[in-house]
Amino acid sequence: MARLDPELRRALAERVRYYHDLGIYDFYRREARLPQLTEAEMPAVETVPACLSSTLSSTSELELREEMAARKSAVLPTIADDNIFEIATPKAEYGVADPVAALKLIREDLGDCTRCKLHQQGRKQIVFGVGNPRAELMFVGEGPGADEDAQGEPFVGRAGQLLNNMIKAMGLRREDVYIANVVKCRPPGNRTPERDECETCSPFLTRQIAVIKPKVVVALGAVSAKNLLAINASMSELRGRWYDFKPAGIRSDDPSWPGARLAVTYHPAFLLRDPRQKGEAWKDLQMVMKYLGIEPPRKAAE
Ligand code: URA
Repeated sequence: MARLDPELRRALAERVRYYHDLGIYDFYRREARLPQLTEAEMPAVETVPACLSSTLSSTSELELREEMAARKSAVLPTIADDNIFEIATPKAEYGVADPVAALKLIREDLGDCTRCKLHQQGRKQIVFGVGNPRAELMFVGEGPGADEDAQGEPFVGRAGQLLNNMIKAMGLRREDVYIANVVKCRPPGNRTPERDECETCSPFLTRQIAVIKPKVVVALGAVSAKNLLAINASMSELRGRWYDFKPAGIRSDDPSWPGARLAVTYHPAFLLRDPRQKGEAWKDLQMVMKYLGIEPPRKAAE
C-alpha cells in the first residue's frame, strides 16, 4: 500500500478529528485521489496537531480509515481544495491580534467543558494555562494533578516546583513562559489521559499555541511529546533533537510566524522519581537556551 506523506497524513487526521467534533463519523471518498497528490498539490497545512499518536504511529492509510468509524456520513473534501482548513475551522480568536483577548476567547469557547468524560470524573475545574501570552517559550505537560485541579493552574504541585527550578536555572521566571497541558481536566487518580480525552482537548492547546506563537515548545514527558508530535516513540528516541511544530488546521493571526521548534524533555514528575536524569533534562534545556540565545544566570560566587 502506498505510504502517505506524513504531513498530509497529519492534516487528514486533523480534518477527521474536526468532523468528529461536529459529530460526523462516517466518511467516504469522492475519488481515490488523496494518496496520489504530488508535492506541488500539497496544501500549506503543515505539521502536527495533537493526540493522534495511535492513529499515526504507523504509516498505513488503513489507520486513517479506522478513524472513520460509522455513524453520520460526510464527504471528506479532497485535500487539494484551496484553504479548506481555514474555511472549515473558523475559530473565535481568528482575527484577534491581541493574544490576551485571543486566549480569553479560547477559554470562553471551552466554557464549562463537558466534551469528554473527564468532566464527570471528579475534576474540580478546568486548568487552562498560565503565563506570558507572548512567551517565546512554552512548556506543555500531560494533565493537571490534584494540586492543579484545586488551584486552577498548571504545575503548582511538587512537579511544578521542580519545573519552576528548571525555568529559573535557564535564567527565566515562571511569568516569562507559558505553561499548559495536553488535557485541561484532571484525570482521576492522576492516570494517563486517554486517547479520546487527548483528541477532544488538544485542539484547544493547539489554538493556544497558535495564539502565543512561541519560538519553542518544550514537551514535558512522553505523553505530551507523543500527542504534540503525533509520533509513537520512546523518550530516548524523542529527546535530543528539534522538531518543527506547526499547528495543523489552525490559523495563527501572524502569517509570518513560521511555527515553533519543539524539544522533548523528561517530565518533572519523572525527574522527582529518578533525579539521576536531571543532568539529561538539563542538556535538553541547554539546547533550548542556545536556540533562544539565553545565557544561564551566573552563580553568586563567580
Ligand atoms: N503534571 C502535568 O503534566 N501537568 C500539571 O499541570 C501538573 C503535573
